[in-house]
Amino acid sequence: MYSEKARKNADACRFCWMCRHLCPVQLVTGKETNTPRAKGLQVSMMERGMKMDAASARTMYECMLCGACTNDCATGFDPLIFIRVGRTEAMLEDLAPDEVKQVLDRIERTGNIYGAREVRVKLDGIPEMGDNLLWLGECARYAVPETADALISLLNKAQVPFAALKDEPASGSSLGDLMGFVEDVRAQAQRAGEAIRGSGAKRVIVLDSYDAALMRHEYKDWGVDLPEVVTATSFVAELVRQGKLVPRQEAGVVTYHDGSRLARDLDEHEPARELLRAMGYELHEMWQNRRLAKCCGSSVAGQFMPEIRQKVAENRWADVRRTDARLLVAACPQSTEALQSTAPEGYKYQDLFVLLNKRV
Ligand code: SF4
Ligand code: SF4
Repeated sequence: MYSEKARKNADACRFCWMCRHLCPVQLVTGKETNTPRAKGLQVSMMERGMKMDAASARTMYECMLCGACTNDCATGFDPLIFIRVGRTEAMLEDLAPDEVKQVLDRIERTGNIYGAREVRVKLDGIPEMGDNLLWLGECARYAVPETADALISLLNKAQVPFAALKDEPASGSSLGDLMGFVEDVRAQAQRAGEAIRGSGAKRVIVLDSYDAALMRHEYKDWGVDLPEVVTATSFVAELVRQGKLVPRQEAGVVTYHDGSRLARDLDEHEPARELLRAMGYELHEMWQNRRLAKCCGSSVAGQFMPEIRQKVAENRWADVRRTDARLLVAACPQSTEALQSTAPEGYKYQDLFVLLNKRV
C-alpha cells in the first residue's frame, strides 16, 4: 500500500522531465526507467492497479537515493518518498532483486552490509563511555578503516577525550535504503539510540554522513532520543579554528566532492573546505558542487549493484577531469570507498581526515 504522500509525489513526478539530467544513475545507464519521472510513473500505475513485477522492482533499486532530483525540484516534490516505498513494496511482494536479498542476508547474519565479522579500525585502549562518543559507521569499520583511524589520531593529537563502541550497532541507514523506513529499521535505530545513551555521551561525533543524516532527520520522529549530533567534519573544523590542530601548509590545487547526504540532507558544505584551505590548498570547484553535487555512489548500492556504482563513481571523476585539480578529496567514508578505487591514471584521491592527519 502506497501512502498518501507517496501517491501525491509520484503523481506529480510522472509527467515531469525537469530533473532527469541530474540523475547520476540515469546518466550512466542511459535507461529511461532510471529517471525520477519514470519511477513516479511506475508507482502511480501500480497505485492504480498494475501489479509490480521483477522488472519494476529492480527499477526501484536502480537509484542512489542521492536526493539530486529532490533538491532541484522547483515545485517541492520528493521522488525519494515513493522510491523508498517502492522498495518496501518490492520486499513485501518478494520481488526484490536477488543481489538485494543477499545484502539483507549479510545484515541479518553479521549486522553489516559487508558480512564482515572483524572490525578493522584500531579501537584498542579507547574507552566505551565518555562525554564525546565517536560513531564510525559500518563503511569505516569494515571497508575503509583508514578514515576512522585518521579521525581517531586527529582527536588524540587535539587531546579531545572520546569514547567509541567496539560493538557499534547499525544505525538503520543501510537497512532503510534497502527496505524503506519499515519497523525493522526503526528497531535498529532504537538499538543504536540505546547504545549511544548507554555510553553516557553528551555529544555524538558522527563520521559517516549517512548515519548523521538519519540520526538528525528521522530518529526524533521515531521516538529515539539522542544527545547532540555533530558531523566529524564540523567537529574537526572547530578544533582547527580553536588552534587545537595546526595543519602544515602545502601549496597545491585540490577539488572537493560534496557527499550527497552531507551536502543535501545535512546542508553542510563549508567545514571541509575550511579544512582544505587551512592546509594551504587552492580549491578549484567542480561544476556541480555543494547542494548540486553529483553523487559518487553509496556503499549499500556498491553491494547490490557494483557495476552501476562503479560507473557512477567514474562519472564523478569525469567532473574532476574538467577542473585543473589532480587531487580529489571527500569527507565521508562512503565517498572514499567509491572514489579511491576508481581514480583515473594521473589523478589521486585522498580522504579528508587521512590528508589532514598527515599534516598535523
Ligand atoms: S522531483 Fe520535481 S523536477 Fe523531478 S520529476 Fe518530480 S516534479 Fe519533476
Ligand atoms: S535520488 Fe538520485 S539516483 Fe535516485 S532518482 Fe533521484 S537523482 Fe536519480
